[in-house]
This record gives sequence, structure tokens and C-alpha cells, in this order.
Amino acid sequence: MSRFFSEKYASLEPYVPGEQPQDRKYIKLNTNESPFPPSPLAQSEAAKELNRLELYSDPVSGALRRELASFYRIGTDEVLAVNGSDEALDLAVMAFCDGKTPAVFPDITYGFYKVAADVYGVPYEEIPLDEDLRIRPEDYFHSGKTVFIANPNAPTGIALPLESIEKIIAGNPDNVVVVDEAYADFGGESAIPLIPRYENLIVVRTFSKSHSMAGARLGFIAGNAELIRDLDTVRFSTNPYNVNRVTMAAGIGALRDQEYTAKNIRTIVENREFLEKELSGLGFGFPGSSANFVFARHPRVSGETLYRTLKERGILVRHFTAPRIREYIRITVGSREELEALLAALRDIIKEEQK
Ligand code: PMP
Repeated sequence: MSRFFSEKYASLEPYVPGEQPQDRKYIKLNTNESPFPPSPLAQSEAAKELNRLELYSDPVSGALRRELASFYRIGTDEVLAVNGSDEALDLAVMAFCDGKTPAVFPDITYGFYKVAADVYGVPYEEIPLDEDLRIRPEDYFHSGKTVFIANPNAPTGIALPLESIEKIIAGNPDNVVVVDEAYADFGGESAIPLIPRYENLIVVRTFSKSHSMAGARLGFIAGNAELIRDLDTVRFSTNPYNVNRVTMAAGIGALRDQEYTAKNIRTIVENREFLEKELSGLGFGFPGSSANFVFARHPRVSGETLYRTLKERGILVRHFTAPRIREYIRITVGSREELEALLAALRDIIKEEQK
């Protein structure tokens, strides 16, 4: 740390993204990216913007907003485009949390919520998942805090039914509820249709997973127009040109090519079913996943060993060290070939460890 570093960040523990090593070619099943390239239309629309990069992007992402509003059947004033959904989470913490209104989220969930609260000096409460790693909706009723729920949750992959999400929203009439739907396209029920009925709901979405655009950094927030205005006030004050021209065009292309996305989602869901069946056969246990990853543990081989030995064999999965989940590995549902390679390696590793 330099002597110039602001005291307020001195004890900050930054978010640790999944590894993106460049030393060799890995089968990457660690950051829930798509195994498929972005839609050809997304690529061609993006390419058209390359010779306009001397101009700033539209600070209100107007064309993209209109496309999102029409696809998700909401008003253009009920949607806001962001530079990856991490920016949405940041904006939500800035706009709706402070010393009087802390944040609340599960103890096992997307690690960025805690880091975002820390960076803005916002207090937070972590509510333990139950023993089956499930969110108990009633734990969040009348919280007096800004609620952050990932649905499906990460890294468990477990989805709450929309009915339970609605109870959490209705149970916090005086607080904002942020529903992070990064993985909803793979099996969750979206809360977007609830927007007209609740003035305290925002839904956060990303193009990183189901739309194969993690590298483009695109997400959006859907919610009541007044909440969107608040978020936009903060956005204009921090990063007014937050979505670049190339990404905006790629997003519009992707939205106009829904068949491509739908086909890829179907393949991921089939591959997930295949992976779950094969993992069961190898003795793994896991909660049924509604996402593009499976969170699995083996009764005889530790999470740490699985992670390390897979990496030695050129396969990356995600391992977390929090005590409750250290025996698990989170495996992104990749292509069938990637999963076959993973399963072959797991068969070997389990055999070796049992010698
Ligand atoms: N929410 C959840 C639950 C996630 O797992 C991720 C991906 N790490 C994000 C949000 C952020 O995704 P992005 O910034 O790529 O949109």
C-alpha cells in the first residue's frame, strides 16, 4: 500500500474474480462463461461501430434501452443499461444503502455484494442459508435493509420460486429489494413481470452468461421508473458513458437474435442434465442446479484436492474457502467435449485418491 492510499480503503479486501490464467490453455469451467461465441448478429453489429469510436457513446443508451424495453415488455423509463451487472450492484449500493439503511444478503452468495458494501462504507448483515444451502424467504421479511438476493443463487445454483421472491418484495415495503438474475435464463423465474406492482423492486440482469458476452461487459437494471431515475442520478455522477459503442451495438444485435440465445440455453440445460447424471454416478452430491453451473462435492475427495488436481490436468473449476462450502467445487456447464474431459479427469482423480 502506498502512503497516499486513502485510509478509508486501508482494510478493504477486494473481490477476487475467478482465475483467467494466460500461462497455458485450460478447459475453463471456473467463471460461468458461455462455451459458445456471441451471436453472429451481435458480432456484425459490433463491428459496424469500430469506425465510430472517435465519438462518445450515447450516455442514455437510448437504442439499447428501447430494444430491452420492447423485449422485456417494460417502459423505456423502467430500464437502465450498465457496464456489466457488477456496475448495477455498485449503483444499487450507492443509491439505496447508507449508514441508516444497511444491506442484507445470504452468507453464501455472490461475493461482490459484500465488497460493494465495504467499498462504500455501508454496514451489512449476512443471513445464513439453511443446512441444505437454501435461502429461507422469511428471514428477509421486514428487514429494514436493502435486500440483495441472487436468483438462482450463486454458487449453489438453487432457485427460489417467484412466489417466494414476491413474498420478500412484499415483506419489505419500505426497502428496496435487488433481485440479481445473472443466471435466471437457465432455469429461474424472472421477477421482471412484478415490476408494475412493486415500487421497491429492481431486477439486475447480465449479457455475460446466456448471451455469451462476458468480455463485452453489458448488463441492465429493470425496475420502477423512480428507482431507475435514482440509479441514473448516481450513474451520471460516476460514469455517464458507462456502456461503450461496440458493446451497445453487440447488445442490440444479441437481442434481435433470440433464436440463437434460446438454442444455446437449451444446449446448456441438456449439458447440465448430462453433467449432473454423470457426477451422481461418480458419487458426487449437489443441489439441483437452475443455473449454468453445478456446485458439487465428493464424499471422499476434498474440494481443495479436486480443484488442485483438476488444475494440474489443465481444467479450471472454482473453489471457495469459506468453511461452509470448502468441500465443494463449482463447475461451469461447458460444451459436451469439455464436460467429457472433466469427467474423465474426475474418474481418474477419484480412483487415485481411493488407492
Ligand atoms: N451476479 C452474479 C450472481 C454473478 O455470479 C456475476 C458474475 N460473476 C455477476 C452478477 C456479474 O456479472 P457481470 O458483471 O459479468 O454482468
